[in-house]
Amino acid sequence: MNENDSEKLRGILEKEGYEREDDLSKCDFVVLNTCSVRENADDRFFGHLGDLKHLKDQRNSLVIAVCGCMMQQKVFVDKIRDKYKCVDIIFGTHNIDRFSKLLRDRLEHNQRVEEILSDTDNIVEGMPTAREYDFKAYVSITFGCDNFCSYCIVPYTRGREKSRRSENIIQEIKKLVADGCKEVMLLGQNVNSYGKKSNGECTFAELLQKISGIAGLKRIRFMTSHPKDLTDDVIEAIKSNKNICHSIHLPVQSGSDKILKLMNRHYAREQYITLVKKMRKEIPDITITTDIIVGFPQETEDDFRQTLDIVEQCEFDSAFTFIYSPRIGTKAAVMDGQIPEDVTKERFNRLLETLYNGMSENAAVYQDTVQEILVEGYSKSDNSILTGRTMNNKLVNFEGNAKPGDIVSVKITKAQTFYLSGTQL
Ligand code: SAH
Ligand code: SF4
Repeated sequence: MNENDSEKLRGILEKEGYEREDDLSKCDFVVLNTCSVRENADDRFFGHLGDLKHLKDQRNSLVIAVCGCMMQQKVFVDKIRDKYKCVDIIFGTHNIDRFSKLLRDRLEHNQRVEEILSDTDNIVEGMPTAREYDFKAYVSITFGCDNFCSYCIVPYTRGREKSRRSENIIQEIKKLVADGCKEVMLLGQNVNSYGKKSNGECTFAELLQKISGIAGLKRIRFMTSHPKDLTDDVIEAIKSNKNICHSIHLPVQSGSDKILKLMNRHYAREQYITLVKKMRKEIPDITITTDIIVGFPQETEDDFRQTLDIVEQCEFDSAFTFIYSPRIGTKAAVMDGQIPEDVTKERFNRLLETLYNGMSENAAVYQDTVQEILVEGYSKSDNSILTGRTMNNKLVNFEGNAKPGDIVSVKITKAQTFYLSGTQL
């Protein structure tokens, strides 16, 4: 979501005549778009801001803007006001569309500009977007979140859930495809609740069907799916439409019913396992990935073992694993029974071991198969090697002569835990 916002910010700046410059020492203007989902994101922000402060001491004409989730929290805005006079523009997540106005105000009046809205019902369509790739694109379908998982800051920083109108989504994707886009990633904190609050709007499964019908669109991905809202009609839509990718990101967070309840997730471990089994049965080549939090308050060794157990039972293809990070203002931050760091770290390492074992077993089934790959670019460690993804989102590094944006057949010659290797046919 933040990356998609950054593409919009960049789009607005390009319209204002700015050009992207990756060498900080040459920049006239720097924008820090912040994330606040865990503490290390906050810390990195203040690290960057410290560096920029030094840069501005040497070059006073440098303009610095800060925006994103951290700016929706008073504690951080107060800190910036007090300690970082170098910051010229502060705005939040609800008024990105005002960016060029705020920038002009700053340049005209030469004083700090601050505009933060607590929430908005407004969805701004048609914002200029400077996309990272022309063959694949993020498309937000909902904004905000109403779930209030007890550990999570997102509902406070992104406001209440809102769905874009389906005709606006379709129109955006049709234009993308006309411009050469082959793959879209539909984004929302909980895509499965798409349309629920908008009278007369279609469901997520119906939206998928409509998008699937757009001529020329090769691949449709979406994230994130909340297990409590993933319905059979979505599974059916994935199964029955050739261009909907057979991959799903389905965060489980914990395998313990006690912890899931404390997290306010609204599903039990058995329901989750049943859902995973059903999807694997209906769509045998589906890849299932997840998010897991370790060290949530009151997590005992037994609760943690249930997480290990669910990881083994669900045979995840990959997972984002997180050490629980208390977020100010959330319910979990003030719960009794916060877990000491050494216990959490030890559990975290055990979790990775279990996860990686399952991942390498899953990867083995790709050995010697032929996969259709959308080429995304070149390997970071060796630019003679191409890199791309299968329909079901497996990362593949391969030898060949294709170009980014091509869709090619690749024979998998080596299946490893984190990626597959192959040769273009
Ligand atoms: N809307 C998505 C997730 C958004 S945040 C969903 O519900 O699945 C992405 C992931 O960050 C979460 O799934 C969770 O695993 C992790 N996360 C969120 N808040 C966290 C916190 N306070 N500490 C550790 N991990 C957290
Ligand atoms: Fe956060 Fe839960 Fe909403 Fe995801 S569903 S953004 S974890 S509150």
